[in-house]
Amino acid sequence: MLVRNATRSLLYRRGLLSARPRTYATASRERVRIVEVGPRDGLQNESAVIPPEVKAELVNRLTKAGMDIIESGSFVSPKWVPQMAGTADVLKLMKRHKGMHYPVLVPNMKGLELLLDLLSKQPKSEVPYTDEIAVFTAATDAFSKANTNCTVAESLERLSAVAKRATAEGLRVRGYVSVVIDCPYSGKVDPAKVKDVSQALLDMGCYEISLGDTVGTGNPTTVGTLLHTVIGGSSGIPASKLAGHFHDTYGMAVANIFTALEHGVRTFDSAVGGLGGCPYSPGATGNVATEDVLYALRGSQYEAPGDLEAIAEVGTWISKTLNRPNASRVGRALEARRAREKLEKERENDGGAAETISAKL
Ligand SMILES: [Zn+2]
Repeated sequence: MLVRNATRSLLYRRGLLSARPRTYATASRERVRIVEVGPRDGLQNESAVIPPEVKAELVNRLTKAGMDIIESGSFVSPKWVPQMAGTADVLKLMKRHKGMHYPVLVPNMKGLELLLDLLSKQPKSEVPYTDEIAVFTAATDAFSKANTNCTVAESLERLSAVAKRATAEGLRVRGYVSVVIDCPYSGKVDPAKVKDVSQALLDMGCYEISLGDTVGTGNPTTVGTLLHTVIGGSSGIPASKLAGHFHDTYGMAVANIFTALEHGVRTFDSAVGGLGGCPYSPGATGNVATEDVLYALRGSQYEAPGDLEAIAEVGTWISKTLNRPNASRVGRALEARRAREKLEKERENDGGAAETISAKL
């Protein structure tokens, strides 16, 4: 025990452990929703094709770590996105829980029909494979053409039929708008355009619009200007119908989330281990890491789902499994701390070798 206390005080002195920050009482904390997009948005943009078993295991581990909304796959043509082949298998393999949501991306009517067919074959006694789809469009024609080979107006027309059919079948529909800050093809994006596209998605039945800084070039000023336009004015969209989807290319994603919080947005998309990227915006790195978001919200007035330490372990696991570096700074810091603690424990168990081991610290 003495050794343990000594170890702790050593860690405090080195600044590796800090005194517990002043926290807000649980009752007064405002709930923030996190949509974990690692298994879909994240893995879709990784270069490797990952077997359905690994994806299902990722969903299961995230569930265990406390995430309650997990985007689990997409019904897109495997010809275009081979990483997303086998979503039906993922949905069958993963453990599904009542009350949780497992949105799947559906780009067109064909994808929706595949999903509806799958759902119709499921025994009624089981928890449904999913109760939610996500549809996506962009704020610029240039990005929309590169991504889905049609203009924004054309994509909205296609999606309207998809959203109507899905809601008629009892599914919730979430809308994504890509490139809300900058477009890799046409530059700076007009916030008024983002507002129009978001409104069109709401009009067709989407319950929430996720605003995507796909390229990750936004900062608190540009994100603030965007939200001021989208939320403001007599035709403003309520912040409660918006979500923030920030990529961390320039390391601004967490700052952008706090800007969005100031504007009343309470839902954010993030990916464990900062998985992802965007094949249509070269150089763009992944989604903001779930670990980074949870760490940033620690001790704040906001309460988010998920256990930080457990999520960080999932991030370590999936990064190792994909043989990629862990893109979460918080994840890497916690990995290093776990390694140090393991060494400290070894030292406690083996007093004789204390000096050699501490040299490795
Ligand atoms: Zn993303």
